[in-house]
Amino acid sequence: MNKIVEVSSVTKEYGETNSNFYALKDVSLDINQGEFVGIMGPSGSGKTTLLNIMSTIDRATQGKVLIDNENIDKFKDENLARFRRDTIGFVFQAFNLLDNMTVRDNIALPLTLNNVKHKIILQKIGELTKLLGIANQLDKYPYELSGGQKQRVAICRALITSPKVIFADEPTGALDSKSSSEVLECFKNINKTLGTTIIMVTHDANAASYCDRVMFLKDGKLHGRLDSSGDKKELFKKVLNMLAVIGGTENELL
Ligand code: ADP
Ligand code: MG
Repeated sequence: MNKIVEVSSVTKEYGETNSNFYALKDVSLDINQGEFVGIMGPSGSGKTTLLNIMSTIDRATQGKVLIDNENIDKFKDENLARFRRDTIGFVFQAFNLLDNMTVRDNIALPLTLNNVKHKIILQKIGELTKLLGIANQLDKYPYELSGGQKQRVAICRALITSPKVIFADEPTGALDSKSSSEVLECFKNINKTLGTTIIMVTHDANAASYCDRVMFLKDGKLHGRLDSSGDKKELFKKVLNMLAVIGGTENELL
């Protein structure tokens, strides 16, 4: 299996010399191309810190991260920006759409910035919005959409550059359970259809049950993993059990 993300002995330290705090301690993990991976753990356990370091947003204090076999520390700013644009897509809890632009223009933005031809952009938008069930929303503005639709627009925008990997931090955190399920079905669908690797931080056991594999963090350290047998209900139960073991029920994690 090709590895798309390799994290080796990553430590993240915050604070001045006298009050050192380790948000991550010696974390190592590999993610294979095409996997749909969940990262769970109590609030403050280091999930966002890990995701940000894996996705080039933040840098480790110690250790190494390879994305698609490239050591991201070696990139100078301009090259890092290009690498990020070509290889990675981001999805956030708060959607981060531009309010004064239509759905179409929001999705097109990364390619407009890349100077891609208009016709090609429109063709790609057509394919992706069909796949995500928002093809009839293109002329609308974000305020006219439900939360679930907004997040699907954000996913289309993340996919428009055909990234190898999508990093999503609590993508269903602001959604009701019906919209959450729609978004998670979309993730599953693009993971299967396009082969895009998805790495998703979530505190929601239902969201985690869509994954092929779930990794757990506690106090900045990896604390076990679960692999899906393909049975979503079974994984859901195992996730709940694991959350009970690492300190807290699902609700306590909010
Ligand atoms: P999670 O996403 O699991 O809730 P985070 O990765 O956001 O956790 O944070 C892990 C720990 O690191 C927390 O204790 C948090 O307060 C701390 N932390 C995060 N970012 C910073 C920062 N910029 N400066 C200092 N401490 C931070
Ligand atoms: Mg977080």
